Amino acid sequence: MSNVTVCVRFRPLSSKEKKDLGDNICIQSMDSETVIIKDEKEEGFAFSFDKVFYEESKQADVYEFLVLPIVRDTVNSINGTIITYGQTGAGKTYSMEGPNILESDEKKKGILPRVVDGLFACIKTSADSTKYTVKLSMVEIYMEKVRDLFDLSKDNIQIKESKTQGIVLSGATEISLSDTAEALQSLSTEMNMASSRSHCVYMFTLNQESISEKRVKSGKLILVDLAGSEKVEKTGAEGRVLEEAKTINKSLSALGNVINALTCGSPAKANHIPYRDSKLTRMLQDALGGNSRTALLCCCSPSPSNASESLSTLRFGASEEKCSKKNGDASGTRDESFEKILEKMSERLNDEDIK
Ligand code: ADP
Ligand code: MG
Repeated sequence: MSNVTVCVRFRPLSSKEKKDLGDNICIQSMDSETVIIKDEKEEGFAFSFDKVFYEESKQADVYEFLVLPIVRDTVNSINGTIITYGQTGAGKTYSMEGPNILESDEKKKGILPRVVDGLFACIKTSADSTKYTVKLSMVEIYMEKVRDLFDLSKDNIQIKESKTQGIVLSGATEISLSDTAEALQSLSTEMNMASSRSHCVYMFTLNQESISEKRVKSGKLILVDLAGSEKVEKTGAEGRVLEEAKTINKSLSALGNVINALTCGSPAKANHIPYRDSKLTRMLQDALGGNSRTALLCCCSPSPSNASESLSTLRFGASEEKCSKKNGDASGTRDESFEKILEKMSERLNDEDIK
């Protein structure tokens, strides 16, 4: 299995989208791995991913498929990164946190509270001779500056590399998570500080001290709720808004390049992965490559009014597909006309009828 898993999630239509365009959507499900999207010119594109979560998908479905295997690996001291990508309003924060972080409805809880529960559940079932500590840092990257969300006065955190700990956020506050309730409570107060034009990063470090063997192992799990990927209007935007957008675009392309290099690159090229091109990729360096595991959740609106942004989000996530195609194991068809795809689908349906 690849170390990089890429999924897409379509949120339900918002009430505004429904008001504007009724129940129209620009996507069609082909199966649980392939989706067809129609652009403004009614041209259809098919994309395949490890899984497509459609509007009716549950928070638990996303967690179990995409996140839980990575949580289990963190306990085995394998680093992992879980990233939500997409335009503003596409469902990144809903997927990552839930409607709010102290959401009491189990069903609505997002990835973050489930990870906290998952880590503690793994700890509870482990051997008595192992002592665990879980720590959490929370920062945002805004205009290529790293700010500590637990202590806003630390507004220029440096990313350093240590021989023993790997990449560290030098001087960033680390909260000890001795139980779930404390963890969620401490998050909820800080959550609103994060700007929507910044990348929000939750870094969990799990240390395991084996009392009998006298050694410490550690695993890092990083959750990233990215800034919106939307293009800014070439005309309207100026000044700060334009600068923000340019900086976000640059770091998102750097992330795309790293993921591409990781999934397409030959082992010989592994030395040339461009981690240093942005604060984001630098911060993720030892949790996004090598032995570590990565999950990318591309979040989209299903509304025709957002088709062009959704298409570019799917293209971002599908970059991996290009290389698996080279290896001959991709079933996806890209850039086919919508009519052709519909034809294929109806052929398939007819075949099923005959059976
Ligand atoms: P983003 O973080 O990408 O800007 P949000 O996560 O804030 O977007 O989602 C925008 C709106 O859509 C919010 O009101 C959120 O509650 C709602 N939403 C997003 N995804 C879902 C979903 N899967 N089910 C129900 N509501 C959702
Ligand atoms: Mg958000």
